[in-house]
Amino acid sequence: MSQPYLLYETDPTYQMAVKQLKDAAALLGLPDEIIEVLRHPERLLQVKIPVRMDNGKIKVFIGWRSQHNSALGPYKGGIRYREDVNPGEVVALSMWMTWKNSLAGIPYGGGKGGIRVNPKELSPRELEELSRKFFAAISRIVGPDVDIPAPDVYTNPQTMAWYFDEYSKIVGYNAWGVVTAKPPLLGGLNVRVVSTGYGVALVAREAAKRWIGGVEGKTVAIQGFGNVGRYAALYLKEWGATIVAVSDRSGAVYDPNGLDVEELMKVKNETRKVINYKKGDVKIISNEELLELPVDILVPAATENVITEKNADNIKAKVISEGANGPTTPEADLILHKKGVVVIPDILANAGGVTMSWIEWSHNRMGCWLTDEEALNRLDRMMTHNFNRVYDEWQKKYSDHPMRAAAYAIAVDRVVKAMKLRGWI
Ligand code: NAD
Repeated sequence: MSQPYLLYETDPTYQMAVKQLKDAAALLGLPDEIIEVLRHPERLLQVKIPVRMDNGKIKVFIGWRSQHNSALGPYKGGIRYREDVNPGEVVALSMWMTWKNSLAGIPYGGGKGGIRVNPKELSPRELEELSRKFFAAISRIVGPDVDIPAPDVYTNPQTMAWYFDEYSKIVGYNAWGVVTAKPPLLGGLNVRVVSTGYGVALVAREAAKRWIGGVEGKTVAIQGFGNVGRYAALYLKEWGATIVAVSDRSGAVYDPNGLDVEELMKVKNETRKVINYKKGDVKIISNEELLELPVDILVPAATENVITEKNADNIKAKVISEGANGPTTPEADLILHKKGVVVIPDILANAGGVTMSWIEWSHNRMGCWLTDEEALNRLDRMMTHNFNRVYDEWQKKYSDHPMRAAAYAIAVDRVVKAMKLRGWI
């Protein structure tokens, strides 16, 4: 075998992404030459960012932007600040964004970026200089019609405001559509913060209609009570489900008669731990026990690899909506599929954030700002329609496989068909 010569090829995250691509290609019967086209990004840019630190010295940071595929539209994906970011991870994440956006049915390709930095070690001024210089350095390859970044790990609406401003200065006009998840005053949406959790709840609601007769009166357990978990809980409760258990790193609270979600949010905000919730007949249990509770719907919204071959057999939920990225291992996915559990894969279930980004971007481009209600209604319509489209195609063509395998196949198929139509392959 020839020695890998590309700097991302030896990265384990990249290799995992390529394996998933190969599995999807096998299901679709695609030849190796198509895998060869899709396993590389269309463009990978590395930039140098010299920052004048507060101590007067210059420190050089390195950043990347990977543009994986643009057959379905401009590249779209976040930018992360972490001290262990590397090109392999960035390329892999950009490939996953291609599949996620394709599956979500939004007219975007996939992109991702990152700077190798520990943002906690920088002052606010240093962070601003780093952000502005990074965006200026990649400004030739981004733009409202070309590549539209968004926040990711340790970047936020303030970072997007700096990016937007820097880019607007370069092009000489307010380029609202160059980034999404901006502060509301600069064309962002207040409801961006609830959108991923809302989407996780929406697809759980749709799967419940198909599989267990709807969410009303059903019981729900949620692992992780952060940005995703808390809003999934809030909306599922609003639609008539009973939230019986939630957790965070401190442990889990369980009340078979139902928890008060607003009170839980208050307790979590004030004390940072859900185990300080004291209402009703509440019991404290472990995160492992939460996953195995006798509930109808389970929402893993904390971290990866929590549902494994060790506990999959003990899971009693009939519908699992993956808020977190990668909470279920491939072995567990197969066990659950054989047991008749619908696992709505992360790539489909947690696409509410990027779909809301598309809503923000498309209205920015028309020069009109949406109300919160209009934006949420739009997200509901899009995710409901999309979930049902994917669900039907899974049942029709790939029902021998878990929904995840079908989701990847559908996503890759759309990209390949777009490339064929455009004459790229
Ligand atoms: P967050 O940091 O706001 O919340 C995470 C929650 O999980 C916290 O309550 C934390 O205490 C809990 N937690 C962490 N490790 C845990 C463990 N081992 N056991 C139990 N609880 C644990 O993060 P978030 O934004 O809600 O993201 C959660 C997951 O959803 C991540 O996998 C993230 O990648 C994914 N995701 C988030 C978004 C988004 O828009 N926020 C979008 C797509 C995917």
